[in-house]
Amino acid sequence: IERTLSIIKPNAVAKDAIGAILGRFEAAGLRIVAARMMHLSREQASAFYAVHQERPFFGELVDFMTSGPVMVQVLEGEGAIAKNREIMGATNPAEAAPGTIRADFADSFTENAAHGSDAPETAAEEIAFFFPEGVCE
Ligand code: ATP
Ligand code: MG
Repeated sequence: IERTLSIIKPNAVAKDAIGAILGRFEAAGLRIVAARMMHLSREQASAFYAVHQERPFFGELVDFMTSGPVMVQVLEGEGAIAKNREIMGATNPAEAAPGTIRADFADSFTENAAHGSDAPETAAEEIAFFFPEGVCE
């Protein structure tokens, strides 16, 4: 059974959408097997998004991700990585399908409400990044 790392980003936390977003995951068959509220440091946000450090939006992305608390979760289910990304919708909220998390809760391309791992390797790395103590069975 597959696991993925999900982040409810600061803009969605600020608009009190945690419950609505977690409800969508559960309704789609994604079980929440770990969760934690945290306010990322610039060091943590930069390390998490290190793959984007040369991109023009990197500074804005780190500013945003450190602007307030986030909720990080591990979601588990059949095809969890793809299912989570489908529920989130396209990265650019202008292109996100109606009814997706980004269509409903994003404020801009950067402030797009949610993160989900994009492949099994990155999911494993991202879960270990936020839950180094491991995740209970
Ligand atoms: P995430 O990794 O957050 O799940 P993603 O995999 O859909 O999103 P990435 O290409 O990994 O998208 O980009 C990471 C994040 O950087 C995006 O979620 C968004 O917040 C921001 N971002 C990406 N591209 C742009 C852009 N062109 N302009 C502004 N912000 C961007
Ligand atoms: Mg990504």
